Amino acid sequence: MTTENTTRDVITRAVRPSEDTEGILSKASECRGLDRNEIEALVSLKDGRDIERLFETAQEVRDRMFGNRISVYGFVYFSTHCRNSCAFCYYRQTNTGLPRYRKTREEVVSLSCDLEDAGVNLVDLTMGEDPVMYADGYAGLIDMISSVNEAVDVAIMASPGALPPEVFPRIREAGADWYACYQETHNRELFQRMRLDQDYDFRLSQKAWARSAGLLTEEGMLTGIGDTAKDRADSILEMGELGCQQIRAMTFVPQCGTPMQDRRPTDSLSERMAMAVMRLAYPDRLIPASLDVEGTDGLASRIDAGANIITSIVPPHLNLAGVAQHDLDIDNGHRSVQHIIEMLDGMGRKVSTNNEYKSMIEARRPKA
Ligand code: SF4
Repeated sequence: MTTENTTRDVITRAVRPSEDTEGILSKASECRGLDRNEIEALVSLKDGRDIERLFETAQEVRDRMFGNRISVYGFVYFSTHCRNSCAFCYYRQTNTGLPRYRKTREEVVSLSCDLEDAGVNLVDLTMGEDPVMYADGYAGLIDMISSVNEAVDVAIMASPGALPPEVFPRIREAGADWYACYQETHNRELFQRMRLDQDYDFRLSQKAWARSAGLLTEEGMLTGIGDTAKDRADSILEMGELGCQQIRAMTFVPQCGTPMQDRRPTDSLSERMAMAVMRLAYPDRLIPASLDVEGTDGLASRIDAGANIITSIVPPHLNLAGVAQHDLDIDNGHRSVQHIIEMLDGMGRKVSTNNEYKSMIEARRPKA
């Protein structure tokens, strides 16, 4: 063996993933799906070379499905009032003394129009489980969605918390395209410790009720809350089997004034690995990169994990909050549409046109 060959062998070995991982990734790259054991094997990877190949394969599959297009969602968190006390959430009811707000219909319409003008593909109307918006048979919520729908020509996502089944047809009729509701974990015992005094099955059923009403649905999981690799694999499988067209992972960020405020924060690796495995297990699903965890500093690494959507774009100087990071990168303008478009340009990617985005969701929209 020549010195040249020996050197090449060493280099080849240095970048090759293990044979088991390569076998799973090569199956995934042909979009042949993944079984439970394979999903758990991928979310459990420890070796840096294996993880790098996981991300590369997720990018290849995403680019094959969606080309170089990335869709962008504007975020209007219009009420930070909530009747619940989720253990991880800054806006839990028992976190008293916070500055909270409830935007008026006129403010929300105006914000939505600004986001449309700036070039988003979708406006996400998010609120806590605000008793004022739920009053009179959810009149405030329905009115908010229909007012925004009359004013904008982009898609609308409603993220209003857990609702009774009869409300979903009204949400759809008011003009919402999507309904988002995150379980955060599909481990029932962990769920009870996160979403205190809430019903696991009621929350899980939301997605089925929404789909029956003709709404596209989004489901999500949280990493860094004491979840194991098995929990993450279970969540990926459950979210896929629920038939949600958009699935996501986000890293828990400790929040002041909550029971989890002293938890040691984790890095985002488990979140990004979960995203990459979702991409391989369910190649055609929409998978967001959220700006709500690490701001724009975390954008490129999430695109590299196979995301095809950017969420939590928030206009600066309008006193709007994020969810996981209520002020990160907002007032410096880094979460503005313009800044995100420039960042995507730098990555050789383009924002979807509204027609492209609309065709993508029409192809996935469930029948009522
Ligand atoms: S996560 Fe949502 S439902 Fe839970 S306390 Fe926060 S705003 Fe309320």
